[in-house]
Amino acid sequence: MYAVILTNQKINSMKVITKPTYKCEHCGKLYQIKNWCIKHELTCSKNPANFRPCFDCQHCELVEATVYQHDPMGGEFEYNVDVLKCNAKGFYLIPPKAEHKGNAFYFPDIENNPMPKECSQQKNGLLPFKI
Ligand SMILES: [Zn+2]
Repeated sequence: MYAVILTNQKINSMKVITKPTYKCEHCGKLYQIKNWCIKHELTCSKNPANFRPCFDCQHCELVEATVYQHDPMGGEFEYNVDVLKCNAKGFYLIPPKAEHKGNAFYFPDIENNPMPKECSQQKNGLLPFKI
């Protein structure tokens, strides 16, 4: 992260102020609040620390799974979601973005583990979908 000072400009009759701005070192996104920029850099998809071998692995597949949730009005309801599955290891994969946000799904039948940072069974190949 580095600070960028925006210069004064006069656009028609608008009042333009000078304010420090913080820029992500990985993707270039601008933030006015330093802590938000620090938080973003940790989870930025362009950050090399967030790269996973699963991103270009032929074993990674997009499948549909059923999530069961308790209904606050009583009972239980279910719905289908798209999740990533590693066909070599046989479990669902949690991408780093969902891991950081803490909104990964958990299933009763198959484990749902975070994507490993290193994988011995990685087989290069382009994914037909975007993670
Ligand atoms: Zn970024």
